[in-house]
Amino acid sequence: MSQEAIDRDLAVIGGGPVGLYAAYYAGLRSLSTVIIDSLPEPGGQVSAMYPDKPIYDIAGFPSIKGRDLVSGLVEQVTRFAPTYVLDQRAQVLQRTGNATIEITTDKGVLIRVRAVVISGGIGTFTPRPLPAGSEFLGRGLAFFVPALDAHAGQDVVVVGGGDSACDWALSLEPIARSVTLVHRRPAFRAHAHIVEQLHASTVSVIIDSEVSKLLGTDGVEQVEITGKDGSTMTLPAQAVIAALGFTANLGPIRDWGVEIVGNRHIPVDTTMATNIPGVYAAGDITEYRGKVRLISVGFGEAATAVNNAAVLINPEEQLFPGHSSDSLSIAV
Ligand SMILES: Cc1cc2nc3c(=O)[nH]c(=O)nc-3n(C[C@H](O)[C@H](O)[C@H](O)COP(=O)(O)OP(=O)(O)OC[C@H]3O[C@@H](n4cnc5c(N)ncnc54)[C@H](O)[C@@H]3O)c2cc1C
Repeated sequence: MSQEAIDRDLAVIGGGPVGLYAAYYAGLRSLSTVIIDSLPEPGGQVSAMYPDKPIYDIAGFPSIKGRDLVSGLVEQVTRFAPTYVLDQRAQVLQRTGNATIEITTDKGVLIRVRAVVISGGIGTFTPRPLPAGSEFLGRGLAFFVPALDAHAGQDVVVVGGGDSACDWALSLEPIARSVTLVHRRPAFRAHAHIVEQLHASTVSVIIDSEVSKLLGTDGVEQVEITGKDGSTMTLPAQAVIAALGFTANLGPIRDWGVEIVGNRHIPVDTTMATNIPGVYAAGDITEYRGKVRLISVGFGEAATAVNNAAVLINPEEQLFPGHSSDSLSIAV
């Protein structure tokens, strides 16, 4: 069945912090936007790898947790109602006639825009699957915790041994009825102070063991855990968070004709333009002399890319957008 195309002014490929800010900036420039991300939640590396870590180098915030930064960015862009195409990879990108660029996702959604900002970071993020029970995905099994409150009163099993797994377990502890952290090795890879907090908490820690089966009818009801010694136990669980990490791969971007250097970066000029007319880049994915891969730098690049895209789309526009503080048209 053919789907209707999504027609917008600008496509932002990658809904990490930089892509979210690019979409907000596009709204300031009165451009309609679609944000595409292979992950089911926005936030890129921040949501996937360190949602509970404080970040100390975001301008205006002496310290802000990754999760709070992402929800602030999402709230900020909501004013301009971007279209989110999540859980889908931008697979094909090609210029067609009339200065249009067409993007097709791996799920067959066709997007037509006049300019693109690639904010693909270190590439398409794909969660590492939980070998047991993938049929429960979306029915109790998840890779993220978008809203801690959704787990109020639940028995939650978190799987993994890194920072994210420990962060989720600790964050859920005051909210869930019970939290069990299952790790297949004897030691955690997370920072020492997080592991200390974990052991001082009421989180039940099971090491040298794997989640071998998820059980339930409509959704997850129980989790079977098998130890290295072959012993098994079954715990009640209504939610399983598989925090087994992510793989990142530049993937389809390599096939778009956009120049790539050093295997994963896109060279840009001072306008953030790539070698393809109408296609800009911002954030970790860009490369130029003196490039620093930080969120604060990516925010600036996003503003530059979008302002230049705005002029490309409508040559009567000024490059300098004016000061947002002067604008009467931006309702708060
Ligand atoms: C543990 C850790 C701690 C960090 N701490 C800090 C810090 O304190 N301060 C700081 O400034 N920076 C920090 N960073 C770096 C910071 O997270 C990155 O600079 C930032 O995330 C880059 O943002 P981005 O939007 O460019 O890319 P990303 O956050 O990588 O987001 C890119 C998104 O694009 C998506 N994507 C890529 N290709 C496609 C495609 N073809 N189709 C659909 N989606 C696609 C990916 O799935 C991903 O969600 C840290 C990084 C890590 C790993």
